[in-house]
Amino acid sequence: MSHSGVLCVLIRHIIVVLGASVLLSISLALNAEQNQQSKPQSPVLKVANSHAWRPFSYLDDNQQPKGILIDFWKEFGKRNGYQIEFVLTDWQDSIDAVRNGEADVHAGLLQSPERLAFMDFGTPLFSIDTQVFFSQALTGVSADYVLAGDTDHTVGVVQGGYEEEFMRTEFPNVTLQLFRNNQAMLDAALSEEIQAFVADLQVANYYLYTTTNQNLFVPVRHLYTEMLYAGFAKGNTALLNQIDNKFAWLDEDTKRQLLNRWVYYDVETVYPVYLLPTLFVFGVIIAISYIMLLKRTVKQKTRALQAANDLLQDQAITDSLTLLHNRRYFYQCLYGQMRDIKGITLMVFDIDDFKAFNDGFGHAHGDEVICFVAQTARSLLTNDAVVARIGGEEFAVLQYFSSAERALAQGKLLCNEISRQSLGLFNHPSMPVTISLGVAYYPNGMPHSEIVDADKAMYQAKKQGKNCAVLNVFD
Ligand code: GH3
Ligand code: MG
Ligand code: MG
Repeated sequence: MSHSGVLCVLIRHIIVVLGASVLLSISLALNAEQNQQSKPQSPVLKVANSHAWRPFSYLDDNQQPKGILIDFWKEFGKRNGYQIEFVLTDWQDSIDAVRNGEADVHAGLLQSPERLAFMDFGTPLFSIDTQVFFSQALTGVSADYVLAGDTDHTVGVVQGGYEEEFMRTEFPNVTLQLFRNNQAMLDAALSEEIQAFVADLQVANYYLYTTTNQNLFVPVRHLYTEMLYAGFAKGNTALLNQIDNKFAWLDEDTKRQLLNRWVYYDVETVYPVYLLPTLFVFGVIIAISYIMLLKRTVKQKTRALQAANDLLQDQAITDSLTLLHNRRYFYQCLYGQMRDIKGITLMVFDIDDFKAFNDGFGHAHGDEVICFVAQTARSLLTNDAVVARIGGEEFAVLQYFSSAERALAQGKLLCNEISRQSLGLFNHPSMPVTISLGVAYYPNGMPHSEIVDADKAMYQAKKQGKNCAVLNVFD
């Protein structure tokens, strides 16, 4: 075969393949379209009921169908492959819609002789209790009287409802006040326009429990317990049977589940508006009280600590036996500014032959003698004098004197008075308590912080025979 022959065969093959694939895609597309057209659409079921029969069927704020019966029929549609379309209107219109074929089925209503004339009833759905409700204002008024028409009270009822039919038949003498729907009737009841009404327990409870209104109504008379049925246009037996056969799933458990969704539906806990602010104020009060309590406790504790601290400080500078200042305090004063005072005077005195008191009358008596000397010296000195016990039976005084003579005179006074006062005090009159006292007088202030000068003077006094004062002046 020549080259051109091979090329021709090749081109022919390509044309055939391309043609076949075009045909294949066209046929596939057609098939798909056909498939789409032949896919069975779920049948539409138009379900009618009231648009204001809470909680059974109503339109919410967004005009969406809501309620127990709506949930029943949605479930029905889901389980049986129906598209449910709700026709929610006024009560009478919803019945008329089924009657004249605008809707296929009524979602749920009671049987009545009047309705049986133009409707067939299918599957029983669930029962409702219808009751007479009285407001608090009618407490004590007999329901019999009101229903017999013996009082001026009118009883509210929904117009065109089974309740109206029932009331007209059973209680022909009572004056009925007709309302377009339950919403309007319950609004009138809660705003105290009417004091009595007839309604299903579920309906009334729904309104009474979802309001904050305080005008309470209570059921006073049970009128009837009746079944709600699916309703069909009279003679539409085919549809009735078709629907009825598809209700096998609606057992008691499923019913209860569907109903339970609505038991507390929309019942929100209504907290008083002042609850949050009150809680907040309480919180703030508690916090403030706590802080105040804490502050008071801290203040008390601080005060107690301060007192304990003061006591400790006092103890640290006090001689526990005589309650005069102690050696530590005395030296603090010596190191302070007092020694710069011109005329500052240091005295040191020691009890003479003290051991004799200890040995002759016991250590406790020795202590008494020490205390006597301390108190007597303190009482003889002015307040500006610092007096301290600086050793066992040794004392020191730091005080300003305008002259050495005055200082010595004060020293002598101490010696004489201690000796004199001790005589009548103790039971050893032949052994007066005496002291030897050294005075160091500094007309230009103390050049050092030692008691050595006064100590030396004190020893001089001991040497001179005790019970006397010796003065040394240090220029
Ligand atoms: P002098 O006249 O030379 O001072 O003779 P004195 O007996 O007083 O001798 P000294 O001062 O040395 O004796 C002090 C004694 O005081 C020694 C000690 O047992 C006693 N003593 C020291 N502190 C206390 C005390 O707190 N209570 C008692 N009861 N005795 C004390
Ligand atoms: Mg001594
Ligand atoms: Mg002594």
